[in-house]
Amino acid sequence: MANFTEDQLTQLRSALHKRYLQLQSEVRYELAHTNDTGDFDLTEYLNNIPDDIDTALVDRQINEMRELEMSMKYLSELEFGDCIDCGNEIGFERLLAQPSAQRCVQCQSQYEKTFLQDLNPSL
Ligand SMILES: [Zn+2]
Repeated sequence: MANFTEDQLTQLRSALHKRYLQLQSEVRYELAHTNDTGDFDLTEYLNNIPDDIDTALVDRQINEMRELEMSMKYLSELEFGDCIDCGNEIGFERLLAQPSAQRCVQCQSQYEKTFLQDLNPSL
């Protein structure tokens, strides 16, 4: 695990949590068109997605929520803060700005390059 101070961990934990709740309320709004803050059963909504929903947007949000869940799991398993590709530290500032980040800057740009190449094979 990357070498964070207790204070940094607390900040990261709260950034993760905040981002997760934000996404959750965005998804809730997209799916249910409501800001009702009552119990939210994501699975139930996923099984009943109306046709007029922008699923691409919701997919992206749910995907990020999954990444955040993974990060929160890592956080408790002491693997948090390490790049999943090269194992180097992702960096406190980067994690604070993007709590779902799972790669260091270098690996992320490599990953995106590969990903974009896959989307546009002719380039
Ligand atoms: Zn890396």
